[in-house]
Amino acid sequence: MKFSDDTIAAISTATGNSGISIIRISGKNAYDIANKIYKGKNINFSDIKNKTIRYGHITDSVSGNIIDEVLISRMDAPHTYTGENVVEINTHGGATVAAKVLKTVLDAGARLANPGEFTKRAFLKSRIDLIQAEAVMDVINAKTDISLSAAQERLTGHLSEEINNIKNILLDVLSYIGVGIEYPEYDVEETDQENILRLLSNAYDKLNKLYNSYKKGQILNEGLKVAIVGKPNVGKSLLLNVLTNSDRSIVTDIPGTTRDIVSEMINIGGIPIKIIDTAGIRQSENKVEQIGISRSIEAIAKAQVVIFVLDISRKWDKEDEEILSLLNNKDTIYVANKNDLKLDTDIIKRLKDYDIIYISALTKDGIEKVEEKIKNYSGLKAEDIINEAIVANVRHENLIKKALITLQSAIESIEENTVIDMSEIDIKDCLDCLYEITGQAIDEDIIDRIFANFCLGK
Ligand code: GDP
Repeated sequence: MKFSDDTIAAISTATGNSGISIIRISGKNAYDIANKIYKGKNINFSDIKNKTIRYGHITDSVSGNIIDEVLISRMDAPHTYTGENVVEINTHGGATVAAKVLKTVLDAGARLANPGEFTKRAFLKSRIDLIQAEAVMDVINAKTDISLSAAQERLTGHLSEEINNIKNILLDVLSYIGVGIEYPEYDVEETDQENILRLLSNAYDKLNKLYNSYKKGQILNEGLKVAIVGKPNVGKSLLLNVLTNSDRSIVTDIPGTTRDIVSEMINIGGIPIKIIDTAGIRQSENKVEQIGISRSIEAIAKAQVVIFVLDISRKWDKEDEEILSLLNNKDTIYVANKNDLKLDTDIIKRLKDYDIIYISALTKDGIEKVEEKIKNYSGLKAEDIINEAIVANVRHENLIKKALITLQSAIESIEENTVIDMSEIDIKDCLDCLYEITGQAIDEDIIDRIFANFCLGK
């Protein structure tokens, strides 16, 4: 793979006003550049010891004027984030000052880094594998503390280790088969065949477990998709506000005013929940509202869990019945809202066969029961995340699926007693999928696409 070893630089902190901004420089000329622009108190950059940070000033590499008062750190290759020499300059926070320091770094000979290029270098220098590189973005984007723990497990190499274990089993099998192929007169004996099958099924089970973990991984990264439905004015917006602790969705007395799907990520007990609040479902002449209604139906289809909100101070009617009919085969939480008002007895009779949670979005009575139900539907528990290798990336999921198919085919050809080297091709294909996951064998354009989604300066 092509490896550019020029010196790159970028502002690694978010833009805007803040306490400090950090400009990171990495590459073979990082120290020359720092020498040109750093003025310490009786010290040059080259005098600074590895892994230490020093006070000083950054000067304009052309005019020599002071740009900012800084702290500068030096980290010698190979034990750095990129595996190269790295300099980090802590400037005063603020877009202008950070941009001026970056400009002088570029004037002194660095090139502006592409998104994710620092992490890409760590990968290309084999300091981390591709799973770990991808986990860096999962750590940055983590929505809740449980999502963060799972991303950190991947960053420390838990998933990589699991994939490598499977690779080793397959390599063992290939070496067994190799014996049979190299010495055809030496028959692969029955016991060897049994042994090979045992190893392959073990690899299959491990891969299958990883494949099944994707449901959890996807929830951890993207949130469990929950739609709140119900006819107008039952209290959907207020319930959403209570769940999110915000005034994100406007609460009104006029039926049918929540016209757009409001999508919000909330944290319930560490589990990220993507709440989709929809317009009330009811027949309407109003065009805008009709769009809202069809979007509600769409939202139900997209949601993994639906919260069906009823107003138990009002009569059960056609609209409620219609919505109920849309919820067949859907994981649904039935919520009877406005518990604080006088209850309508008919509605309670109609709902006697359902597991109803009585709440008041106004007084917040019963809200924790709704939260508990949502958590149960996610299937995630904080304690599960620790020490579990979880696949959370669709690229990995696709490759694991492919690997499972090839492995299945290898197992079948051995079971059907066909020539053993037929299974060799399948096992090699399976290994290729695993090498692609960890990045040992992968097309350069896929690598570029992966890192292009990173943030600038990472
Ligand atoms: P939506 O159309 O389903 O989104 O309903 P809203 O959330 O806009 O609520 C409609 C009206 O019902 C508002 O005036 C809310 O204040 C009121 N409301 C919502 N929940 C409750 C509740 O639990 N008790 C009472 N008394 N009023 C509520």
